[in-house]
Amino acid sequence: MLGKMMDSQLTINSLIDFAVKFHGTTEIVSRSVEGPIHRYTYADCYRRIGRLAGALAALGVGDGDRVATLAWNGYRHFELYFAVSGMGAVCHTINPRLFGEQIAFIVNHAKDKLVFVDLTFVPVLEALAGRIDGVENIIVMTDEEHMPETSLSGVLCYENLLAVEAEDFGWPELDENTASSLCYSSGTTGNPKGVLYSHRSTVLHSFAICGADAMAISARDSILPVVPMFHVNAWGIPYACAMAGSKLVLPGAGMDGASLHELMEAEGVTLTAGVPTIWLGLLQYMKESGLQLPELERTIVGGAAPPPSMIESFENDFGVDFLHGWGMTETSPVCTVGALKGNMRGLDTAAKQAIKVKQGKPLYGVDMKIVGDDGLPLPHDGEAFGELCVKGPWVNGEYFEDAEATGAAFDADGFFRTGDVSTIDSDGYMQIVDRSKDVIKSGGEWISSIELENLAVGHADVAEAAVIGIVHQKWGERPLLICVPREGAEPAAADILALFDGKVAKMCIPDAVEFVGELPHTATGKILKTKLREDFKDYSLPA
Ligand code: ADP
Repeated sequence: MLGKMMDSQLTINSLIDFAVKFHGTTEIVSRSVEGPIHRYTYADCYRRIGRLAGALAALGVGDGDRVATLAWNGYRHFELYFAVSGMGAVCHTINPRLFGEQIAFIVNHAKDKLVFVDLTFVPVLEALAGRIDGVENIIVMTDEEHMPETSLSGVLCYENLLAVEAEDFGWPELDENTASSLCYSSGTTGNPKGVLYSHRSTVLHSFAICGADAMAISARDSILPVVPMFHVNAWGIPYACAMAGSKLVLPGAGMDGASLHELMEAEGVTLTAGVPTIWLGLLQYMKESGLQLPELERTIVGGAAPPPSMIESFENDFGVDFLHGWGMTETSPVCTVGALKGNMRGLDTAAKQAIKVKQGKPLYGVDMKIVGDDGLPLPHDGEAFGELCVKGPWVNGEYFEDAEATGAAFDADGFFRTGDVSTIDSDGYMQIVDRSKDVIKSGGEWISSIELENLAVGHADVAEAAVIGIVHQKWGERPLLICVPREGAEPAAADILALFDGKVAKMCIPDAVEFVGELPHTATGKILKTKLREDFKDYSLPA
């Protein structure tokens, strides 16, 4: 027997419709690429989304066509999210920090019909001349006055396109399984792989991240996603803001500590989200300048492991509740968030922080297991570690037009294999030990590079640290610690190594410390271990 409830489709259109109807006067504030702060409401935004969809249709965009964006977090990018998906096309966000050849590969693989580009990234496209010939038009996301001189062909002006269209677009009734957006994983090895999200997966993911044990996104919040809209849809925050009717604050290119602080303070930001490297800049700036953010209630950090010292700093120096999350392009991305449970309330600060260092517990909808080399599940005892596998309605079920990558990505039970190695404790909190390709194998034991990096940045004079395995005749691999000293500081290797005493097994302590001016990062802000391994491939460890 079937239930008798209405069969409303879970579409991205329904999110913006709701925001406009019930939160129409709530603001979306952006630091624009042209300079000034731009401010309007969901209602204003919706009228422009209608015009934009009209312009897309006039340019020949139809069902399922891919429309690419190379853009910062800003209101025009937000308009594209809703206009492109809302008309039944696919909003393909591209990470402008990728190498040119990767961007060309992605544009061609996705068969992008149009590319929308912020002024900043016009040179990125110019450098690809002759390599992305399938693209019919390039639309610069600005007004007539700011249109650049460019060697690109088929160039149009965003505001001119909108100016001649009507506000009321005839939005289609979409099936919730319609493809809505596309994002390629940055693939540090091999070609990037496309993950094709649907309206349904996006709406369900929005419900999940709005939950009280996740980001607790509400109409009382003013939310500034530092996570870029060009990678995994800014962790789904733009959609969740529409669902909750939250004020949205978009930082544009102003990602440095001073710009972020200024915008957060001015707009009363209560929740923010980003990768650890971004917070290093903001925290340092606020400490040096003696500034606070009294309205900022919580921050969600993920994408890479934040060191415990960062958690302490947010909570103790600035009174900001720290939430740790984990996910990946393939999982929309949020699967776990580290909110504490009721029975943990009475724990002391140190015990709470030990839980917050973990990547968190699954949100409803996500199933999770860890498996050994034999593919069999391992116990959830917080000790056993193995490959993390996940399943759920916002987890990738098949890569976009890539049978080979799809073939290797799932286990016999249909779980997606993440390539992360982790533990899960009896309370359900998952902790990443490493990415399987970064874990150091020494004398048959596994050493977690993340654990060692976390300890190293606990040293007051270490700004950033990475640990890689160096080939060793006897042990197979031994850990080398590579540190970036804090500006003006000259920490001693022996002092840093002393931090490890008694905190990790003796065999895990790095054999040596090297100092560098900076570490290489991926396009999504993670330390690029492949490059470090290459740079240090001839390194000889002390005997
Ligand atoms: P890319 O596209 O660069 O591969 P994703 O954004 O998809 O990147 O990154 C997903 C990976 O990032 C995860 O598989 C995991 O290794 C890492 N990651 C994400 N969140 C965390 C976290 N909180 N702690 C440690 N690693 C994380």
